[in-house]
This record gives sequence, structure tokens and C-alpha cells, in this order.
Amino acid sequence: MSDSAVSTSRALFERASVVTPGGVNSPVRAFNAVGGTPRFIRSAQGAWLTDADGHDYVDLICSWGPMLLGHAHPEVTAAVQAAVGRGTSYGTPTEPEVLLAEEIVGRTPVEQVRFVSSGTEATMSAIRLARGFTGRDVVVKFAGCYHGHVDSLLASAGSGLATFAVPGTPGVPASSTALTLVLPYNDRAAVEQVFAEHGDRIACLITEAAAGNMGVVPPDPGFNGFLAETCRTHGALFVTDEVMTGFRASSRGYWGIDGAQEGWVPDLMTFGKVMGGGFPAAAFGGRAEVMGHLSPQGPVYQAGTLSGNPIATTAGLTTLRLATDEVYDHIGGVAETLKTAAAEALTRAGVPHVVQSAGTMFSVFFTDPAHGPVRNFEDASRTDSTAYAAYFHAMLDAGVYLPPSAYEAWFVSAAHDDRAVQTVLDALPAASQAAAA
Ligand code: PLP
Repeated sequence: MSDSAVSTSRALFERASVVTPGGVNSPVRAFNAVGGTPRFIRSAQGAWLTDADGHDYVDLICSWGPMLLGHAHPEVTAAVQAAVGRGTSYGTPTEPEVLLAEEIVGRTPVEQVRFVSSGTEATMSAIRLARGFTGRDVVVKFAGCYHGHVDSLLASAGSGLATFAVPGTPGVPASSTALTLVLPYNDRAAVEQVFAEHGDRIACLITEAAAGNMGVVPPDPGFNGFLAETCRTHGALFVTDEVMTGFRASSRGYWGIDGAQEGWVPDLMTFGKVMGGGFPAAAFGGRAEVMGHLSPQGPVYQAGTLSGNPIATTAGLTTLRLATDEVYDHIGGVAETLKTAAAEALTRAGVPHVVQSAGTMFSVFFTDPAHGPVRNFEDASRTDSTAYAAYFHAMLDAGVYLPPSAYEAWFVSAAHDDRAVQTVLDALPAASQAAAA
């Protein structure tokens, strides 16, 4: 697309770059990994985004997961408008909080939830609770699993497996990651080793229920169950982060297609994205025995001025009530169609790739299948980012907004109808050729 075709986005981006670092309010929105100007979106309807210059795009980002029903769903919009008319925040308990908590408890194995405003707060609070409950300090996480911008979790692996982590970004003091252990994903031997060495100090192990933040990397069969059992043996809590997968990978999150089948239950879970229906709402939850340690019932402090905000909880509740089995069937079908077509087009163009899924989530890795499936961060890092950048821009020019990074899931919604799907299918051959060039 020529520069003049996106002149309004360009002008806004230039102004934004003066008053906002990098011109964006979250780094994933920038086009640093693919080059060019991020589109400033003026409005969205169903499966479509419209930018400030009037171009329409099929949205395969869906706000990085939340928009399960598509944009501006009439029933969600009406419920939110009615809620706004009743006042936007009271700082008191409200009925929508109870209803949304009941909906989440009904779909997942948690007995109680506490609402917060972002996934970051959810994981941060879950870790504090795990530490308060166990009286231990050490946290184990996996490389490539993202849990928000919590200091102790913005950590990179230490020099050896059982060596404590180092800060993953300037601004995080070494003391904040000195109690974090970072392991390779899907590596049972590494988990066994650190629990053998540090088991009696480990408060919790936190993992994405299925990794989605290094592209979609599902746990090996039985891996999550093994983690649950290892934690149980050593008296540590098993925390599954379902901020991305919750109410998205299936109606009951990734747990619905993993733990629910295999018969294990996490001690704590975190949720976000879909449960806020596009508003800032997130939660952490677990067994009543563990959750009871939270203030005001217990001693572990946790709070939030806008936690359980009536507009956000209304949007989330309406979204979840509309997220029926038919919705998940539709999303699963669209995902299947798109990933099959993407793989075929790349094969025809001779571009090495690997396509992976976790429930209805999927992503396309520009990696060589000769290396086998992508099982961890090291595998994901083999991605050909240059090929992806060419592919991304060809798709964008053809009216498809993919994530501007090769390490992301592609998200679809209940509103991705035949017209939206066909637009993507039509764009794939030329984009695959562009990636091959
Ligand atoms: N956990 C996971 C698995 C996520 O994917 C994210 C965000 O992408 C977070 C936590 C952090 O959520 P938020 O961006 O709402 O703070």
C-alpha cells in the first residue's frame, strides 16, 4: 500500500510519536518487527476493522484475544450502554460481579475468583497469594510463556537450569528476579531437576495453560498433568495462566480440553481478555481454601479501585452468556479453514512453515518443519522474521490485519463469516509468494 493511501494513519502516528513513546500504548501494536506504519483504527464492526484512511481489514488480532464475538456485538453494546446509564463506577459491590463470578466458577474448576483490571494484575496477585499461602518465595516459569509485565516474571533463564533468573528488561532489579527460575517449556527433566534441588522453597509454578505468546505451542500430551502432580508432591501451587486461552481455546478454556479430560485441577488460575468483553477486566481464582487467604478474609493483601467495574463486568458477563457451544464450533471451523489454507498456500510457494493449534487458537510459524514441531522458545526463535514481514504486508495490502509479529496467535471470532474468510483465502497465495521472494 502506498504511503499516501495511509496518510491519515501516518500523520496520527507522527503526532503520537511526539507525545507517546514509540507512538503506541503497548509495544505489540507497533510495526517495529515488520516495518511501516501501524494503522490507526477508527471503528470496528463484526470481523472488520476500518482505519483512519477508510480502508477495511479482516481482523485476525481481535484485540489480542478478547473479541470472541466480534466487534460491536449488538447485545454486548446494548448491555454496556444500559450499564453506563446507571453510572460507571461506585466503589461498592455490585450484582454483575456476582453474576460474572458465578459464570466463571460454572465453567472452570475454580471455586472462587477475585476480579482485577488486567492480566498482569491477575498473575501478579496469584503469585503473591501463592507465596502467602505456602510461606515460600520461589516461583518457577517457562521461557517464552508471557504472564504480563510483572517484574518477577520479566525474567530470563540463569546460567544453569537450577540457577536463578536474571532481569529480562532494564528497569527490573536483579533482586526482583532472584527468586524466579526459568525453564525450557515442555521439558520434564528440567522441571524434575529444579524441584529436586529447590522443591521445599517453591511457592508455585506458573505456566500458560497452552503457550500462546511465542506463537501457539501446546503442552506435550500429559505435560500439564505432570506439572500438577510435581507441584502437589512438593507442596507447591500449580498456577495455570488462562488469560489468553480462557473462554477462547474452548468454552472452558484450555483446561476444558486438558485437565478436565485427564482429571487434574490447578490450584490457581488466571483469566483476562474474553472475560472482559473488550473492557479492562481480569481475574484470578482457585480453591476456596487458597482464595480464603486473601484480604479481607485472610492476611494476603490485594485490592483495586476499579476491580469488578460494573461496565467491564457487564460486558464480560454478556459476552460469556452469548459464547455458546455453537460459537466455539464456528470459531473452531473458521480456524481450521484458515490454517489449512495458509499451510497449503505456503507449501505451494515453497515457504517452510509449521502450523500449530491449541483448541480454537492457532499460529503459523515461518520455521523449517525439518526441525519438527515447535515445542519451546528455542524452537520458536528459529522463525524467519524477514519472510513473515513480507507476508504480513502483502496480507495487509489485501485487507487482512495479521498480528505485526511472527510470534503471535491468529485470533478469529464468531463474526468471521464467509465474506471475511474468503477475503483471507483470496489474500493467501500472493502473500505466500511474497514470503518466498
Ligand atoms: N498472561 C497471558 C497468558 C497473556 O497472554 C497476557 C497478555 O497478553 C497477560 C497475562 C497479561 O495481560 P494484560 O495485557 O491484560 O496485562
